[in-house]
Amino acid sequence: MSIINLEHISKRYPGNKDYSVTDFNLDIKDGEFIVFVGPSGCGKSTTLRMIAGLEDITEGDFKIDGKVMNEVAPRDRDIAMVFQNYALYPHMSVYDNMAFGLNIRKHDKEDTKKRVEDAAKILGLTDFLERKPSALSGGQRQRVALGRAIVRDANLFLLDEPLSNLDAKLRVQMRTEIAQLHQRLGRNFIYVTHDQVEAMTMADRIVIMSDGKIQQVGTPKELYNEP
Ligand code: ADP
Ligand code: ADP
Repeated sequence: MSIINLEHISKRYPGNKDYSVTDFNLDIKDGEFIVFVGPSGCGKSTTLRMIAGLEDITEGDFKIDGKVMNEVAPRDRDIAMVFQNYALYPHMSVYDNMAFGLNIRKHDKEDTKKRVEDAAKILGLTDFLERKPSALSGGQRQRVALGRAIVRDANLFLLDEPLSNLDAKLRVQMRTEIAQLHQRLGRNFIYVTHDQVEAMTMADRIVIMSDGKIQQVGTPKELYNEP
């Protein structure tokens, strides 16, 4: 259970004259699937990376259950992130890639094994655990990246354009898989995309951004008259 508050968050990168994100203000309810959508350069990634702790917040507060998280190190946030380029370690097996986030936290080995095997089952990766990422298809690699997030059992999942390197057919299939995964886990998801169809089909609520600012927030039905 967690409530997330993004309170008047702004970002100016060191050396930049202009702000990349201005006064981003949003409350996220427990278990919501939020999609940030907007054109390239509108500040989606920057906002997500501030939540992940990969970028400093210039102004404003990011809170989880009332606690200000601005200064908490990325590793100590209860957050799992999935990157566009999958960010898999090429020299490690699928198993070790999925276990990585728990291993660096010195998590119990037996429990790690159980979590990796459970996640592999959900994602159809059971037969691939000993392979290296280079021996997988794009869709399988994306599933490994999702698996690495799942085994962390984090409260908040951040997904930054996770499907943009996949072909159109696989993208549609993975959309459904990610939506089902969200249902199954019941965690908060924040998903970044420039694809409006992705936003409409996956989101509980959509945040439309342009030029570093929130333009509109609403359900797909409210914004696009979609169910
Ligand atoms: P989006 O994810 O919507 O494509 P970004 O958050 O990546 O947008 O970028 C928002 C703005 O911030 C852009 O103008 C971009 O050039 C700028 N920006 C992004 N990352 C950096 C950085 N590391 N240093 C300086 N400016 C950056
Ligand atoms: P972008 O969103 O701009 O495409 P990338 O997906 O390439 O960014 O990666 C964002 C940054 O996060 C990179 O600097 C990378 O080194 C770092 N990074 C990659 N994987 C992880 C991870 N699992 N945990 C923390 N940081 C990571």
